[in-house]
Amino acid sequence: MHADIATSHGSEGEELGRIIDGSAIARRIRDKLAVEVAGLAREGIVPGLAVILVGEDPAGAVYVASKERACIEAGMNGITIRLPATTTQAELLTHVRALNDDSAVHGILVQMPLPKQIDPDTVIRAIDPMKDVDGFHPINVGKLLIGEEDGFAPCTPAGVQELLIQSGVNTLGKDIVLIGRSNIVGKPMAALLLQDHLGANATVTICHRYTRDLPSHTRRADILIAAAGRPKLVTADMVKPGVVIIDVGINRVSDPSAPKGYRLVGDVDFDNVRPLASQITPVPKGVGPMTIAMLLKNTVRAATMRAARSAGRSAAATRQPA
Ligand code: ADP
Repeated sequence: MHADIATSHGSEGEELGRIIDGSAIARRIRDKLAVEVAGLAREGIVPGLAVILVGEDPAGAVYVASKERACIEAGMNGITIRLPATTTQAELLTHVRALNDDSAVHGILVQMPLPKQIDPDTVIRAIDPMKDVDGFHPINVGKLLIGEEDGFAPCTPAGVQELLIQSGVNTLGKDIVLIGRSNIVGKPMAALLLQDHLGANATVTICHRYTRDLPSHTRRADILIAAAGRPKLVTADMVKPGVVIIDVGINRVSDPSAPKGYRLVGDVDFDNVRPLASQITPVPKGVGPMTIAMLLKNTVRAATMRAARSAGRSAAATRQPA
């Protein structure tokens, strides 16, 4: 598709407009995970991800179905619990606690948005932090900020960082500008990129809806990450030549010629920005596929960490004097 479009060259002969193929990178991660899962199976461990979907939100239902398929394809257990839109908060919390206690479940994800009678923060806090593979529990948010690596980072920003690493983008000392400061993308993305770590060590600027003169920030960016949910927010006059663009936006815009009457676009004016960028993610098939790959990765890690904890416990138990 986009990858067929010819690339141009910058003033220093550098090739511009290279596509970062999120689907292909996610595919490689999922293939590697499948090998790891097969190894765990030989030890009698099958990583299990439980997803709770409350109500009939069609987009939520599509995401949940693809998460379940991805788990099964990787040799993991994918359990989906579908609850009616009338579910009370107490009922949902009962399900969460049952999953916390279920040893076959290593990861728990509650699909957002939730119906209005349920407070999402209360639900997130009820999830066992060691099963919180979405990385939204305050314990995991705190661990991410202080750089403690035994927690879980949220899947979308973790996927963006992985895309940068896999695409050979050096982040050390670079100016990275983020557009958007949500708890799901912008803030955890900034925390990841600030750590003293591979794919990080950057100078990070976070812009949001009250930022004055957004273009003055974005034009300084070596790497620009857009997560504002605004189609064509980033235009060609807002970027410097050679920039790396990561487009996290997924916006529906109406298109009578498309089969569904709409198509998905990012936050970046792709056609006009691409010729200036050294590398750029498309929408779809950029960041999107990475989110699910990182969810699986977190779940496999949850299972591995639990196995290591119980091995540690039994080793400690055998060391006890008789
Ligand atoms: P997401 O879940 O993708 O992060 P949200 O809708 O939760 O999306 O957050 C959108 C973010 O984008 C907010 O932090 C908001 O301040 C930022 N934003 C929205 N519009 C603009 C804009 N025109 N300029 C800069 N930032 C914006």
